[in-house]
Amino acid sequence: MSIPCPYCQHPFSPGAQSCPGCGASLLLEAVPGGTQPVCAVHPTLRGLGTCSRCGTFACARCLRAGPQGEALCVRCHQLEPDAPMPWDQREELGTMRAFWRTLVQVLLRPGSFSQARAEGRKRDSLLFVLLCALPAFFVMGLIYMVFLVGTPSLMEALAPPDRPLEDTSGLEMMPWMGVGMFVFFTLFGPPIFVAMTFVGAALDHLVLRMGGVTRPFHVTLRAHSLSQAPWALGVVPFIGAQVAPFWALVARVFAYRGLHRTTTGTALAGALLVPLASCCLCGGGYMGLLFFIFSRAAQK
Ligand SMILES: [Zn+2]
Ligand SMILES: [Zn+2]
Ligand SMILES: [Zn+2]
Repeated sequence: MSIPCPYCQHPFSPGAQSCPGCGASLLLEAVPGGTQPVCAVHPTLRGLGTCSRCGTFACARCLRAGPQGEALCVRCHQLEPDAPMPWDQREELGTMRAFWRTLVQVLLRPGSFSQARAEGRKRDSLLFVLLCALPAFFVMGLIYMVFLVGTPSLMEALAPPDRPLEDTSGLEMMPWMGVGMFVFFTLFGPPIFVAMTFVGAALDHLVLRMGGVTRPFHVTLRAHSLSQAPWALGVVPFIGAQVAPFWALVARVFAYRGLHRTTTGTALAGALLVPLASCCLCGGGYMGLLFFIFSRAAQK
């Protein structure tokens, strides 16, 4: 639900400090002795909207977005349900059980983000990402290794007996490449994945801020990290890693909407805008490169 700007009537979402239409500050001084409603917490500021729970007037500083994007006052917003995720209960559950239950919850009940605690330490969030990535990259490296180690003997076995393979020098390298790939994937894959999660969350946070989200970066990082849970499916050979990116994006929309208590539209923009833009950039760069190669080839 959005509230009209007092200057230009452009709708703004609860939590915004300035109007997205005209850019004016929404923190308006109340006219002393005036008839306009004032904020229940700040009597010197004008009340721009009413809380959909308790009905009190709230200024732009006190307006918050509820789970469905409805306007809430600060007090009702603080009474919001704050259910810890299993990942927050590692001391009680043990790390592995907490991890497993969080995976199941994110994969199968992403709607539960709207009831979930938003606060979480950055390193706890990134630890969750690391645990998702470790087994997936291990299996991915293993598949490459088995493939590259097995190929030479397979090719020798498949070669017709009257014409054995003449040049096997290239094939002899393949098992070593396989071992190299395995070591690379297992050692460097997970840390690179964690770093990419951090950068992705930072970029998404910029988009979410433009959408009027006021909660701090660690909430975005927590949402982004927990929504990486589908990458744990990478342990399922061949299928897991193909399904994971799309499932993670869906989970991320739920996570942003739930943990930031924002609208579906803002959550969609936060989760999809950066991946789409980078796709276009990479795609554009790729097209440019092709064009460059073809135009050079045509000149000859
Ligand atoms: Zn305006
Ligand atoms: Zn209220
Ligand atoms: Zn106020």
